[in-house]
Amino acid sequence: VDLRPKDPAFGIASPLASDDDPRMNKIMTQVALEKLPDVSAVTTSAASGDDASNHQKFQYVALIGFPSDEGTLRNGGVAGGYQGPSAFRFYLKKKGTIFNNETKEDISHMRIVDLGDVIEPYSGEEHQNLRSFKLDEPQDENVKAVLDAALTWDSLTSPPKLNDSGYRLEEAHLRLEGFALRALMLGYHPFCIGGSNDQSYPNAHAALRYLRNQSALQNSKPRPLCVINIDAHLDVRPLLHGSRAHSGSPFRQLLQTEGFEGKHFVEFAAQGGQCSRNHAEYVESKGGRIYWLDQLRESARSQGLTVPQQFANVLDSFPSDAAIFVSFDIDSVKGCDAPGVSCPSPVGLEAWEAIEMAHTAGAHPRVILFDLSELCPKVEKDRTPLLATFMFYAYIRGRSKLGQRK
Ligand code: MN
Repeated sequence: VDLRPKDPAFGIASPLASDDDPRMNKIMTQVALEKLPDVSAVTTSAASGDDASNHQKFQYVALIGFPSDEGTLRNGGVAGGYQGPSAFRFYLKKKGTIFNNETKEDISHMRIVDLGDVIEPYSGEEHQNLRSFKLDEPQDENVKAVLDAALTWDSLTSPPKLNDSGYRLEEAHLRLEGFALRALMLGYHPFCIGGSNDQSYPNAHAALRYLRNQSALQNSKPRPLCVINIDAHLDVRPLLHGSRAHSGSPFRQLLQTEGFEGKHFVEFAAQGGQCSRNHAEYVESKGGRIYWLDQLRESARSQGLTVPQQFANVLDSFPSDAAIFVSFDIDSVKGCDAPGVSCPSPVGLEAWEAIEMAHTAGAHPRVILFDLSELCPKVEKDRTPLLATFMFYAYIRGRSKLGQRK
């Protein structure tokens, strides 16, 4: 059975961009990673505080697709997230006015560079085989090779070949890390669209390596990386067989990474009925903070703070020299607003809150990286990809306001 339609039937009718109605596709280009222009001289020298150059510091966003749901399958979730990036891109072409007359935001100076997907999406047959694939106890040497490669590889010229030894997902993770790291080094802020949530560890690791590289170049102390996971789940499950990552494990991997401090980790909109006590205690034992969904609602009632305002307060609570990675699992949005996810819930954030939070993240000068996970068009192919698209547009609108000429 070919699970991947040749021509995915995404398609609520929508007006095409026209000269009198320009949309985001006007500021988007597709570029292969090896041809990505280096804009780091522009974006790093922009720290002068001069508005005109500051404007350029946040101008470049790199879109990266992670079309894999193997990690979701390893974690017992619903298949189909491998189509997330293609559904997202389908709607992206048509959405998002360049000048938003409602908010008065102008994104015409923004530059969105689409680097494509980090791997070819699985064929239907390959995908079918994943379901019956039993994770073998890995041989120690293979595990060692994977870990060594992850620590040293940052070039696309010779990616480690792990597919043949049954490490296809691990290879995809390394490629993703390479894409995100290269984009950051060249002066872009990556926006990664998945695909399963295991993408968040390679993304976080790329950010850590980027900050280390920067500190070496500038001969200064590395800026701390702060990570906020907006998710119904904590995603700190142990690795399978001690070494195989999956959609439930990215933040345990992060919390075990040398150089990352647990006090710089936040779980936001977690749902107590979907998170084990052991895992919550694990997060807290590492110094991480958990903001439960009901607690956020209660603060909204008692203090009049909307959930997006509380999210903004968390971003502001991070150290002033921090770099922030915002990781958004779209299953944190309630099922009627985002049914197309691999693990839906009838309760959660509302669509407008998710959009406003993406805007807040985009408008925050310390945010350098954003990922959006678990978009699963196999379950629902229109409303949820559209929400993801609207969130991306909100992020770009937010970015567009930073360092603007007064
Ligand atoms: Mn998740």
